[in-house]
Amino acid sequence: MLEIKSKMRTLCFPPQCANCQSGISQTEVQQHQLRENLAAPVHRHDRLASLLKSHWCDQCLSKLVRHKCLTCWTCGVHLSQQSPLGKRCAHCFKKNFRFTRANSLGNYQGQLQNLVIRMKNQHDEPLTIQLGNLLANQLVGANFVDNIDLITAVPTHWWRRFKRGFQAAEMLAETIARAVNLEFNPAILKCQRSTKKQGLLANTLREKNVQNAFSVNRPLLIQGKNVLLIDDVMTTGATANEISRILIRSGVQKVYVGVIARGARVS
Ligand SMILES: [Zn+2]
Ligand SMILES: [Zn+2]
Repeated sequence: MLEIKSKMRTLCFPPQCANCQSGISQTEVQQHQLRENLAAPVHRHDRLASLLKSHWCDQCLSKLVRHKCLTCWTCGVHLSQQSPLGKRCAHCFKKNFRFTRANSLGNYQGQLQNLVIRMKNQHDEPLTIQLGNLLANQLVGANFVDNIDLITAVPTHWWRRFKRGFQAAEMLAETIARAVNLEFNPAILKCQRSTKKQGLLANTLREKNVQNAFSVNRPLLIQGKNVLLIDDVMTTGATANEISRILIRSGVQKVYVGVIARGARVS
């Protein structure tokens, strides 16, 4: 469905960069469409690279795709210098998260922060899909999806879903699953009570806010599997940690986390 929508959009509007709106060369778009129509299987990394080039200009893409940054092995925060604690940042050293690893496009600042705000505030579906493809590319480049059996998203309480009608995390997860050709199941998790927005709470209150807020809907579907959990932003990691706790308790082997941006409040 999302794919048909995206193709219709390309037909109706000349292609523009999803960030700066500058025009994208028709050749890039045609080359991508040609690849899509080829019967021969295309390696998923090549397919993603050509998909990205047909939606982002070279300048924005070079700023948003950063495979070789120094990052914390566990929480994915981008570090300005090597952590004195080895692979982990100081935050992770103290926390001992339940998820195995997290990865992101970058820290929640500058251009990436503006894109996330635009995606969430304007319920911008085309932008959400393109950010999802960017994250898929990042996760493939970091060998993150090789051991994944199933992709899901941080769930939202039904009342918030009803009020907003737009679920960024779910749309991102669905896009990533399609891009990397893995199963997507948004129904394995449920948000059973309304929580306060994590972004409005002090760090110390965030763990309490999400404690026992989620439940696993279909434990039989996840036995012994490795799950990739997708969200838009991760700041303290309290939500991802709580969901990882209940997934592992219900039989999941390992939880990996993918987010568009990593809250940069840690060193
Ligand atoms: Zn651009
Ligand atoms: Zn960390």
